Amino acid sequence: MKVEQYGDSLDSMAGVEFYSGVLCAGFVNAHSHLELAYLKGAIAEHGGFASFAESMGRVRGTFSAEERLAAIGEADRVMWQEGIDVVGDIANGATSFPTKAASRIHYHTFAEVFGLRECNLERQRELLNYPNTSLTPHSIYSVQDAPFREVCQADCDRPLSIHFMETPDEALLYRGEGSLHDWYKRVGFECDFLHYGSPSERIVACVPSERRVLLVHNCAISERDIEVVMRHFSTPVSWVLSPRSNSYISGIEPQSVELLRSAGYNINICIGTDSLASNWSLSIVEELKMFRNIPLAEMLQWATINGARALGVEHLYGTIEVGKRSGIINITGVNLDDFALTESSRAVRII
Ligand SMILES: [Zn+2]
Repeated sequence: MKVEQYGDSLDSMAGVEFYSGVLCAGFVNAHSHLELAYLKGAIAEHGGFASFAESMGRVRGTFSAEERLAAIGEADRVMWQEGIDVVGDIANGATSFPTKAASRIHYHTFAEVFGLRECNLERQRELLNYPNTSLTPHSIYSVQDAPFREVCQADCDRPLSIHFMETPDEALLYRGEGSLHDWYKRVGFECDFLHYGSPSERIVACVPSERRVLLVHNCAISERDIEVVMRHFSTPVSWVLSPRSNSYISGIEPQSVELLRSAGYNINICIGTDSLASNWSLSIVEELKMFRNIPLAEMLQWATINGARALGVEHLYGTIEVGKRSGIINITGVNLDDFALTESSRAVRII
């Protein structure tokens, strides 16, 4: 691809194509679970976090291998068509890898370690045979102390992607309260990590300060969480927002974006769609429509270069520059007077 700058009008130049709306670099979907694409529409909306987790367990086994693969292929195709160049993708098993190998999208796969009673660490290590794949702990409430530390302190040049503060119950667990605590008590799960005191304190005690980390969801973070995390890390921490997933699961509109924007640290905000189990589509533009009164130019940074930085591919993706591989996306239906998205805005890949 050739990138050049022109000072003069392009109107009379041969071979120039014009597009209405915004042209920008291809998007980075910083958090998804491609392997769950077959669960599109299978779980009821707005049931809340506990009901979502319970439904996941119930419906997961009711789809054939063919149905799963077809849904994965379709989700990959649509993400490409709608302008996504790069995906930070969570995997629990191997089903999504053949699609990823054939895809034009660049995937970084996080092989997810979880389990309070039986941890799947050894099984997940087998997934490291696939390209661009590294281990990550699922969250600060679903992995015991030793495997959490082990995963956070190995392979330090790869990023971690940790589900973080999707619900206030994650912090309440550390205080012996809330629905997560009640559930664990009911089923007899013991946690050996509550002495860290809070989710953010567990992160900084276990993750080396120079490691790149994506914290995903952040619905229930406090100013103190941001301070504890940002003071610890010497590399930029990426705070991934997935507002449509939060809306789908809990019907909430998280307020944390303003906390992050006004925190006064070098905060790298990114956008993730989460999976089709908890979203109506895997569209970055639809995610951006959820944020009100935030300049579109700022949000496009979240959706492009910030995500590329989070996944360590900023030298290849995230901006339109000579030597990079980024696609070019046309966002139509933009209100050009206010430079803002409208209900009818959508993204189409040009290159
Ligand atoms: Zn997720």
